[in-house]
Amino acid sequence: MKKKCRICNDKLISILNFKKVALSGNFIKKSEIKKEKKYSLSAGVCNKCKHLQIQDLVNPKKLFNHYEWETGISKSNIELILDLLKTLKKRFKLNNESKILEIASNDGTLLYEAKRRYKSYVLGIDPAKNLFKVSRKNKINTIVDFFSYKISNKIKKKFNTFDFCIARNVIAHTPNPNDIFKGVRNLISDKGVFIIEVPHLENIYIENQYDNIFHEHVGFHSLKSIIDLSTQNDLKVFDVEKIDSQGGSIRCYISKKNSNFKEDVNVKKLLLKEKKIGLFNLKSWFNFSKKVNKHSLKLHNYLKKIKKNKNNISAYGASGKGQTLLQVCNIGKYLDNIYDKSKIKQGKYTPGTHIKIIDPKFINVKKSKYLLLLSWNLAKEIAKQESDFIKNNGKIIVPFPMPHEYKS
Ligand SMILES: [Zn+2]
Repeated sequence: MKKKCRICNDKLISILNFKKVALSGNFIKKSEIKKEKKYSLSAGVCNKCKHLQIQDLVNPKKLFNHYEWETGISKSNIELILDLLKTLKKRFKLNNESKILEIASNDGTLLYEAKRRYKSYVLGIDPAKNLFKVSRKNKINTIVDFFSYKISNKIKKKFNTFDFCIARNVIAHTPNPNDIFKGVRNLISDKGVFIIEVPHLENIYIENQYDNIFHEHVGFHSLKSIIDLSTQNDLKVFDVEKIDSQGGSIRCYISKKNSNFKEDVNVKKLLLKEKKIGLFNLKSWFNFSKKVNKHSLKLHNYLKKIKKNKNNISAYGASGKGQTLLQVCNIGKYLDNIYDKSKIKQGKYTPGTHIKIIDPKFINVKKSKYLLLLSWNLAKEIAKQESDFIKNNGKIIVPFPMPHEYKS
């Protein structure tokens, strides 16, 4: 078990223990069920900088060389990408002379849009070999590897510096975020902007989103933790905004420490708010741990009752976080199937709980009257897609903040 903080190296204080679970992103074939491995999962808070993080690290190669989450699949995610690109154009004059590097470029959706709409020069880096095939199809120049300081030197030799470095939903995944920051510091130009999007600790804390806690998510970020990382690497956060992504995220704008960008008032405001709600207080996290146990029991009993009344339940959205929820709450046994649009997941089985994943076009009220929404942050989008199911008296269950039926 890891005892030192991934940001400042001080000692960790354990607050949560989920015992042994299978890796949340590891959807398996039927033949692989028998040899599936489980790993301890626990989380701790840093005694000094108060950063919340996973204490049981799994080799990143096991987690990310084959990645089954495609950026281009969710509509709301594409909207977020377009919104980000528009902001970059308006505020930082993104154009046909701009150079963009995207870290964890996934299937290349963002870079494809930047190239198509703004004629920018784009380069992606992502370790997932299976997604490389997709990005190659989109003609996006992609390096198949993990981003690091070491590789930033190679990139610099070949491509020089970049006007924009973008890292969406990846800082939380890496055991050594300082190395990424150092690499970016090496690659951004003096006027360059480093943009980070990361699930916000505020939402995880306030809304009790413990389903976000799994092996792929090594750290849970506040603005403070991003500022700590920036300061340690000679960078500065000059603006921040809340965005509607992954159940509530922050988008941070970072530059070299001595750049001309002035710190926006948003930075101080959010930092103050984070402090006020208790994110940097150990007591808050012990309370959080109690709330998690309470919620987990409640969700278990909620589904048990539906099943007792002879109604069938399936789940919707084979998201990684859903797999934590199913395993931690021990509710896989109540579910018949899981529906998911991703073709690479269909036909496979969920990690730890071994439920078959099928195409949402087979959703049927007669087979399952209830659908437990595992991608609950996309409730609106999914309810709209499945309006026929709802019209036929099908019910959608949203697990957070407390289990309830979805009402449009
Ligand atoms: Zn720390």
